[in-house]
Amino acid sequence: GFDDSVLICDEVDPILNKILQDNGLKISYEPEITPEQIVEKISNFNIVIVRSRTTITKEMIEKADNCKIIARVGVGLDNVDQEAAKTKNIRVINAVEGAMNAVAELVLGLMLSLARQTTRGDRAIRNGQWLKKELKGTELRGKYLGIIGLGNIGKRLGRLARALNMNIIGYDVIPIDEEFSKEVGLMKADLDTLLQSSDYISIHVPLLDSTHHLLDAQKMSTMKKTAKIINTSRGGVVDEDALYNALKNGTLGGAALDVFEKEPAIGNKLAELDNVILTPHIGAQTKEAQSLAANVIAEKIIQILRG
Ligand code: NAD
Repeated sequence: GFDDSVLICDEVDPILNKILQDNGLKISYEPEITPEQIVEKISNFNIVIVRSRTTITKEMIEKADNCKIIARVGVGLDNVDQEAAKTKNIRVINAVEGAMNAVAELVLGLMLSLARQTTRGDRAIRNGQWLKKELKGTELRGKYLGIIGLGNIGKRLGRLARALNMNIIGYDVIPIDEEFSKEVGLMKADLDTLLQSSDYISIHVPLLDSTHHLLDAQKMSTMKKTAKIINTSRGGVVDEDALYNALKNGTLGGAALDVFEKEPAIGNKLAELDNVILTPHIGAQTKEAQSLAANVIAEKIIQILRG
């Protein structure tokens, strides 16, 4: 076994504690820990584990003199200051496998809900309204789905959507997996062509300087009036003010957002609009995804400690 000490800063699947403990590691499980407390005690730990609630800042890392590994039980690493970690020789690891199917299935569900306005119908019934006439929907079959970013999640979505006979258009900044392209009959396109041609546009890129407001007012103005945007990547990738204006003015058809520029997105003005579906960052929030991610992180940590 190992005798490293581990600080777990967020709620994670219990399997992670179990595997690490079985390997001799000493766990401090503190899912409510505050940033100030982390700064105070981070120097006592060799491994720091977070999910989404905690952000590991430069200030924390500067104090982390005994830290070897920072692990995120999830995909995006935008809540860890990776530059600072590098200067301290700390390995930063994540678990990309966990979320892939969970997020892709969520997107599929959101597209189906947008097409049939199920959430609007549900809200109306609760308010005593029977919107049968108003809620004439559309079908996904034969529609064009533009996927921006064909990594793990984008590809999984492409395969699921293909099963519904959607046409898949793809754009990425790196070469797209050939096997995947063949399997779904992918139409590769540049971003402008994708935006102009798609009925649904789903975003699966990391949040970087180069992807901040990737979809802004100008880009939105080139989309079909009926186009619907689904964002389950990171809030900053879509300009929310521009989205609000486009939806309100009817120059876009609808949107479904799982991620926001500011979370929790309570009081977000997009909630005023009927053609919008909002979910509270639940992309990877499935039993299967959380347990898979916890297993993957445990395995990776043990492998690194073995050297
Ligand atoms: P990935 O790294 O496997 O794929 C990302 C792809 O985006 C890569 O192929 C990359 O080349 C491409 N890309 C980067 N910059 C681009 C650009 N400017 N234009 C087009 N493509 C670009 O990542 P993933 O596992 O598929 O995750 C994608 C996103 O989903 C990330 O932002 C991640 O944080 C987010 N995510 C959200 C949730 C959630 O709960 N909603 C859960 C997991 C992941």
